[in-house]
Amino acid sequence: MSELFIAEPNSLVLRESEPLGRVGANEVKIRVTYGGICGSDLSVYRGKIQHATYPVRPGHELVGIVKEAGSIANVTKGTRVVVTPNTFCGECEYCLSEQENICPNKKSIGINADGGFSHEFVIDARYVIPIPDEVSDEKAVLIEPLAVIVHGLKKLNLRKGNSVLVIGCGTEGLLTVALADYLGANVTAVDINAEKLEMLKSFPHIQATHPNDIEPDTFDYVVEAAGTPQSVQSCFRWLKPGGSVLLIGITNASELPVGQIVRKEQTIYGSIIYRFPKDFAESIEYLSDERFDPTVFISKILPLENYEEAYELALSGNFAKIIIDFQNKEEQP
Ligand SMILES: [Zn+2]
Ligand SMILES: [Zn+2]
Repeated sequence: MSELFIAEPNSLVLRESEPLGRVGANEVKIRVTYGGICGSDLSVYRGKIQHATYPVRPGHELVGIVKEAGSIANVTKGTRVVVTPNTFCGECEYCLSEQENICPNKKSIGINADGGFSHEFVIDARYVIPIPDEVSDEKAVLIEPLAVIVHGLKKLNLRKGNSVLVIGCGTEGLLTVALADYLGANVTAVDINAEKLEMLKSFPHIQATHPNDIEPDTFDYVVEAAGTPQSVQSCFRWLKPGGSVLLIGITNASELPVGQIVRKEQTIYGSIIYRFPKDFAESIEYLSDERFDPTVFISKILPLENYEEAYELALSGNFAKIIIDFQNKEEQP
């Protein structure tokens, strides 16, 4: 069995992993099928996340099969599952009001706890959720990143025919475009990288364009998914009076046109990850519909041995989702 391992920033290796012990009563051992490389994995690798700790095994967008289940675990051996990579204490005021995404005791696997870029790993069973048969492994690896968008879009009172601008076509931006379109909004997507806009060519109703081509005061909602100070500012240039901005990209600080926001009664929402299991269950529900297929955003699936190429492609910024295939072709269950 092998695992990816980051001893310190900029040092990523594939190494033989320690044998896993027996699973605890409420734990499961998961044999990983696919792992998606996320922007935050790249930031952990590059040493750009303040709360990251090292050494760490990366990886948090994980789909696999339960290989062993503890005596009181709520899933059984053989179940196909996805994991929520963010833990929660279940006891604080936020957890008790179903806001476990802002639990102050939260840990994030792959960032400040060991992740799942490994043939197998063990996790508390409360962080796994079964995947129905109609959701393929390729769709399933998108359940976690899509749950971020499911959660974010709920903050907006999105209705059919509303105009939505999505800034930034990384995976989260692309998934926002796909979901808002599926929900009946008129969606425009902008990115400075034309290759990213290309990825939207299979969506006939979507306008995909360069930011210079956008008229001011045009959109009911603007979703910021680029995470730069400039793109946060530009949200307000393109937002209609009375409109709302949803911030899902992360940047440290940005200047805001406060006078305009007050006079035009504009609203800003911040949104972080998702609530579990609620938003995961909804993400699975959307993906169960064959008319909703964001797997077009999977640019490449590479075997674990090609992890360096996988990270390089992801770091280049010219692709959407890059997936690592952890299935050991010789050793079948
Ligand atoms: Zn992610
Ligand atoms: Zn809590």
